[in-house]
Amino acid sequence: MDLYSGHINKLIDELAGLPGIGAKSAQRLAFHLVNMPKERVERLARAITEAKANVRYCRECLTLTDQELCPVCANVKRDHRTIMVVENTRDLAAYEKTGKYEGVYHVLHGAISPMLGIGPADIRLKELMARLAEEVDEVIIATNSSLEGETTAMYIGKLIKPTGIRVTRIASGVPVGGDLEYIDEVTLLRALEGRTEL
Ligand code: ZN
Repeated sequence: MDLYSGHINKLIDELAGLPGIGAKSAQRLAFHLVNMPKERVERLARAITEAKANVRYCRECLTLTDQELCPVCANVKRDHRTIMVVENTRDLAAYEKTGKYEGVYHVLHGAISPMLGIGPADIRLKELMARLAEEVDEVIIATNSSLEGETTAMYIGKLIKPTGIRVTRIASGVPVGGDLEYIDEVTLLRALEGRTEL
């Protein structure tokens, strides 16, 4: 039996397809949304469409940004010869929040996972290797300490080693499987300072 209107069901289905939102939350959100004032709903809808239309990948580091070059890559005061490799834009934001890292980044948009069928060609590795043709002193691999993150770190390490460029891995001590963004700044800095050669 169809308890709700078709429109509500459609909305619930769309919301339930988002990460971290189960069937119950999707229902709760859907009813909340239809009860919201029209202007707020329109503002939310517009924010989603505009973000989708205007956000793009930085030409250098591939993070999500509004500009051709993100603020970090566009900053000449940053050390462009030190590249920190992270899995996603949220991890980049976590390191930026510490305010202590002076290098630039490279965002992979994922991690290698044989179990999920995600291989090296499915993340932005080719672009990282292309950047190494420029003057680079060090590549710091800051992927998560999950199985996927470690697999990715090892793979990248092996790939870069022959180029003679210094490759380091941030210290673990970061909770296993923990997303970098949930870790406090002190732990992040400690992981960065305690990095070791790969
Ligand atoms: Zn950038």
